[in-house]
Amino acid sequence: MTKFNLAPGARCVLCGVVLSGQVAADQHGRIFCARHRTEGRHCRYCDSFFLPSPHGSEVCKPCSASQVFDGGTAEIVCSAIAAWFGRHGLELPRTVPVRLDRVMPASPFLAGARMLGYAERRTGLLGLAAQTAIVLQSGLPLMLLRMVLAHELGHVSLGCEQLRLPQWAEEGSCDWLAHRYLGEFGTPEAAIHRRRIATRDDPIYGAGFRWVAARLDGRAPRDLVPLLRSTRLPPTAPRP
Ligand SMILES: [Zn+2]
Ligand SMILES: [Zn+2]
Ligand SMILES: [Zn+2]
Repeated sequence: MTKFNLAPGARCVLCGVVLSGQVAADQHGRIFCARHRTEGRHCRYCDSFFLPSPHGSEVCKPCSASQVFDGGTAEIVCSAIAAWFGRHGLELPRTVPVRLDRVMPASPFLAGARMLGYAERRTGLLGLAAQTAIVLQSGLPLMLLRMVLAHELGHVSLGCEQLRLPQWAEEGSCDWLAHRYLGEFGTPEAAIHRRRIATRDDPIYGAGFRWVAARLDGRAPRDLVPLLRSTRLPPTAPRP
């Protein structure tokens, strides 16, 4: 059983009583009465432990309060992130259309998981130029929407640079950009999603992120592409 250093008067994040006796915590360090362990569940979007309402939602209150179901809002969020990319010298096409979808394909790299977003290359038909669009899961909470959009814009940007990267380097770079972008927000939601990126332990996203972070933390996003161009990248992620 983990020992917790409780501040005097610390309260349970779930029911609000002053904590005493057995306590438990989720991976975000939120501490609650141990008895809730059998009553609650982890939010499908942020992994926070919460007590579901009687209708049995899979989404915690803070996440459900900010879910985005309309494409217009997603477009506005996407423009703000694209402007951040521009300020940091990261190449993007002039427009990147965004579409929300209710059903997403299975993740190619994470068994049993569904993708939250992906970049879709549309070939030029009838004289129209080829274009890359971003497809997102409908109903993502705002901060997660930002994270997924920043990650997918990362793919679009690396595509503009014509970089051919092993999967770990591509996904790790996009996760590093998303992690960096969320660092612009000093909110608990941003901290939760940054921690989720930084603690992934799979060989593609987790290992790729740690490799990039070990080289670029404390440096500027514009240093990413030169790093990728100037480094020999093996097919599997080396240790950072
Ligand atoms: Zn409690
Ligand atoms: Zn949540
Ligand atoms: Zn990706």
